[in-house]
Amino acid sequence: GYEAILRRQAQRESAARTYARSLPIVPVRARGLTIEGADGRRYLDCLSGAGTLALGHNHPVVLEAVRKVLDSGAPLHVLDLATPVKDAFTSELFATLPPELAADARIQFCGPAGTDAVEAALKLVRTATGRRGLFAFTGAYHGMTAGALAVSGGADDVSVTRLPYPQSYRCPYGVGGERGAELSARWTATLLDDPKSGVTAPAGMIVEAVQGEGGVLPAPDAWMRRMRSITARHSVPLVVDEVQTGVGRTGTFWAVEHSGVVPDVMVLSKAIGGSLPLAVIVYRSGLDAWEPGAHAGTFRGNQLAMAAGTATLAYVRENRLADRAATLGARMLGRLQGLQAAHPCVGDVRGRGLMIGVELVDPDAAGPDDPVPPAAPALARAVQQECLARGLIVELGGRHSAVVRLLPPLTLTDEQATAVLDRFADALAAAER
Ligand code: PMP
Repeated sequence: GYEAILRRQAQRESAARTYARSLPIVPVRARGLTIEGADGRRYLDCLSGAGTLALGHNHPVVLEAVRKVLDSGAPLHVLDLATPVKDAFTSELFATLPPELAADARIQFCGPAGTDAVEAALKLVRTATGRRGLFAFTGAYHGMTAGALAVSGGADDVSVTRLPYPQSYRCPYGVGGERGAELSARWTATLLDDPKSGVTAPAGMIVEAVQGEGGVLPAPDAWMRRMRSITARHSVPLVVDEVQTGVGRTGTFWAVEHSGVVPDVMVLSKAIGGSLPLAVIVYRSGLDAWEPGAHAGTFRGNQLAMAAGTATLAYVRENRLADRAATLGARMLGRLQGLQAAHPCVGDVRGRGLMIGVELVDPDAAGPDDPVPPAAPALARAVQQECLARGLIVELGGRHSAVVRLLPPLTLTDEQATAVLDRFADALAAAER
């Protein structure tokens, strides 16, 4: 039975296992938004493989693309050799890039995970600039390998200068909004402009346009433009990590497009593989200072992932799912703001497109000088469990693990969005009691 499976997993898997702790489900079937467990229960999946499933589970165009490769007799493993499957993926991907980058882009297949592409990006800018240091942001998440960890929030690495990521709620400067973002930008500019700051130009700056794991924090567009002009002025490559924000999720195909910023390097994974493992970096050709073989890896050519990815990218583009994410996301935010008004424990509701966060707080524990109440991780955990009891899968994030994150597929229908929010509202009311 499925309980034996859960028991064996708990015994055999490492103490570091994550989702399986809070979501004791044994999925056996899935389609679109819905997962069915071995116990016969059905769940609405708003975790979507941590933002991977742009088209939901087992979308017909993805299955068809994978089957086509399987049935064609094409080799499934070819290292990084050229194939028609890779050629089609690269063409489709380049068609989605900001035109200024696409016109002059190189692609490095990394892989298979997002963190591998982050490593490649850091190595690329270090090679191209001959510098060592990096600029990264508080609360950032870039992965679990050594280099990616070093640029993630909470890490302590001598080569990384940590800069304040702008956020309206819990603003590090206590002012929030555009003013807080302005202070973050000014601090960054000062470090580079002031010869006595003790900070020299780094090999690159790595940033998320919306921090995902950090608690769904959308950076203001004006701030992204400031980062672009500051880095450009000092010839510092700007690396934008679109691993979670990419492929329409935030309401534009890539999240940097909101600001009009053209990065020097884009780090891509998750949704680009259409639910199979795939990770790449795309970058301005001027950075391509690598010697042949300077970056290798056995699994840089997953043919099935490329085929699934091509189908996903094309489907999102042809069906304008980024626009759909923008309108539906705004509608969902509106309803969540209604919940915020009715529930003092909802401290903040924020997001961009279908990347949504609800921060839970303890209003009674706020001190007289606190600009906002303290985060309430235990309540967030209770809301997650009440959601699960109502057949809704959500994940937590943020620095205090007090942000409930909604990452539904972009194919979400209006009716499904209503069902998700109905269940969430019930769960919130139950957890509050
Ligand atoms: N960058 C960002 C922005 C991410 O959200 C993640 C994964 N949550 C990663 C990098 C790392 O990707 P992976 O887990 O595939 O290594």
